Amino acid sequence: MKYAVAPSRVAGVLIEGDDAVFPVHRIYCVGRNYAAHAIEMGGDPNREAPFFFQKNPDNLVTEEGDFPYPEKSSDVHHEIELVVALKGGGDNVSLSNALDLVLGYAVGLDMTRRDLQAECKELGRPWEVAKAFERSAPISKIAPASRCGHPNQGAIWLKVDGKMRQEGDISQLIWKVPEIISFLSGYFTLKAGDLIMTGTPAGVGPVARGNVLHGHIDGIGEVRTRVI
Ligand code: MN
Repeated sequence: MKYAVAPSRVAGVLIEGDDAVFPVHRIYCVGRNYAAHAIEMGGDPNREAPFFFQKNPDNLVTEEGDFPYPEKSSDVHHEIELVVALKGGGDNVSLSNALDLVLGYAVGLDMTRRDLQAECKELGRPWEVAKAFERSAPISKIAPASRCGHPNQGAIWLKVDGKMRQEGDISQLIWKVPEIISFLSGYFTLKAGDLIMTGTPAGVGPVARGNVLHGHIDGIGEVRTRVI
């Protein structure tokens, strides 16, 4: 194949205990998937249908790389999230088959230009400028399900400079992982290489240059980044 310009590199995420890298196809993100966070964002904590947005594969920050405070915002927030990595895909995946598609899980940060997001909401505009910007998705190594299983409970938290900012439990997900996969596959053809960020618990807040962000999910791993 002859390309007219140099093709972009495939974004990759390390897999714990494996020298092969996970090649990222798409990044799907679920909005408002913990009741307490839905309330803090002015939403309805009940089971309204999940909604999705996307980030770009090359927005990922791996191996504890830095998070540069982005342009055009003075209110950048952290959102700590459980991330699902798919090894298979399809359309209209059934609930009972959904977990067969999961390679493993990671700890991710859905960094958000909250002031731009508020503007988008008010004007009925799409969220890309708020969500899909450069280096907006720091992520840990992927813990393979062969090691960690398919956890449906366990603490999820984020500390900023050692102080607890977000605290929850993945058992509090309004839409569970199989439901998210099944629902999403009704709208998009899922593929091996897709990542799904499953939403954030309560306690989102602003970051500043110099902050060190340290996120954790029991049994899965840790994500760390410094805001520069
Ligand atoms: Mn989020």
